[in-house]
Amino acid sequence: MAKKIESTREAAQIVGVTARTINAWIERGALTPPPWTSAYLKKTSGNLLESPYIRGVGSSAEHGTSTAYRAGCSCAECQAWARADMRRRRREKSLEASQPKADALLRLLEDGCSYQEAVEQAGWTHQGVAGRRKLDPPFGIRLDEALNDVRDPALRHGRPHAWRTGCRCADCREYHEASRQR
Ligand SMILES: [Zn+2]
Ligand SMILES: [Zn+2]
Repeated sequence: MAKKIESTREAAQIVGVTARTINAWIERGALTPPPWTSAYLKKTSGNLLESPYIRGVGSSAEHGTSTAYRAGCSCAECQAWARADMRRRRREKSLEASQPKADALLRLLEDGCSYQEAVEQAGWTHQGVAGRRKLDPPFGIRLDEALNDVRDPALRHGRPHAWRTGCRCADCREYHEASRQR
């Protein structure tokens, strides 16, 4: 079996770059985290070092892409791509984390729970729900539909009283938003 290489310093020696470059490549996803085989390091770094982004061909290459960024380019376009990519990942992570709660909340509302009860039983918070609404508009639409179905038809919605009873239907939220801006 091929010897496993664990340290970035050793990897740097094999590839002929600094340990810092190895770390940057790992950070950018161009290299997998250790351990590596020397065959993998040689092959992958060979491609990276050949890359037009590193060799500065520059303008003819496509910047602002994962390929350019991973190869080590630090131009403004590639940095902007990296920031946007980070935001994308954070958003995905956050959506994934709250998915079970979102499902539970909608199910509880469908079962006829009040909004307050449903949030509590789903183990969620109002801020959490509001955050998910922003990140995931289709969830907001489904939630509004569910809230509309369970709202008390005897109340006049979009008025202070309905809001105070805990109704969070679209009409009541709209009223509340408007009253806060006054
Ligand atoms: Zn670039
Ligand atoms: Zn309402």
